[in-house]
Amino acid sequence: MSPSEKLQESRQRLLSLWGPQQAHSKREPLQELIMTILSHRTDYVSEKKAYERMWERFGSWEGIRDAPLEELIEMIKPASYPEVKAPYIKQTLAQIIAERGAPSLDFLEAMPTQEAMDWLLRLPGVGPKTATLLLLFNFKKPVLPVDTHVHRVSIRVGILPPRTSADKAHKLLLAQLPADADALFTFHKHFFWHGQRVCHAVQPKCYQCVLNDFCSFYQEKAPPPKQQGRIAASGKTDLSL
Ligand code: SF4
Repeated sequence: MSPSEKLQESRQRLLSLWGPQQAHSKREPLQELIMTILSHRTDYVSEKKAYERMWERFGSWEGIRDAPLEELIEMIKPASYPEVKAPYIKQTLAQIIAERGAPSLDFLEAMPTQEAMDWLLRLPGVGPKTATLLLLFNFKKPVLPVDTHVHRVSIRVGILPPRTSADKAHKLLLAQLPADADALFTFHKHFFWHGQRVCHAVQPKCYQCVLNDFCSFYQEKAPPPKQQGRIAASGKTDLSL
């Protein structure tokens, strides 16, 4: 099976498992951006705790921008690398407020996708993953966030060549997917869930995986089964994975 056939077959099988998704976010754009900065290498509970502590202590975006650095570091300590994230948060807020006159990213709605990407990538601590997450989840722009799960699964299955960088993966995958926010969100979520619940970085559950009959990693390297069984290629999500 060619890489592009693997991509389409993977999409189809994961769609059967989890169904179509609609691009959305439960958070307003600036909150999404700052929480995404906090989330790097941090679990959701710690990220949320860091965000709440920071907000309770400083009370407004302007307050966080003007907070003494050491205090902000202390407040976001539940997140990893607080000494790196605190200056990014302060500088990002300062830049947004200075350039737009208010702590808001709502103006991105009306901006063309590439222009919005370029604007976000100028902010301190904002890379392609954060920018694409924000633009897809909050503004339904047709971009593809490639996080560690999407990246790992795509390479293991053989959709992307080994050692493809995340940046290159974004371009290669995007070129083969529909330029539609819901379709891209569905792809992102499905590959994210698959990486999180089945295709773990260590000890992937290959023998339960609906992609194993054409997965390059499985064909070449999978260890002997520890668990037998396989998720049905159709039916409801098995959240116990
Ligand atoms: S077969 Fe294994 S390595 Fe391949 S996608 Fe499934 S879990 Fe990942």
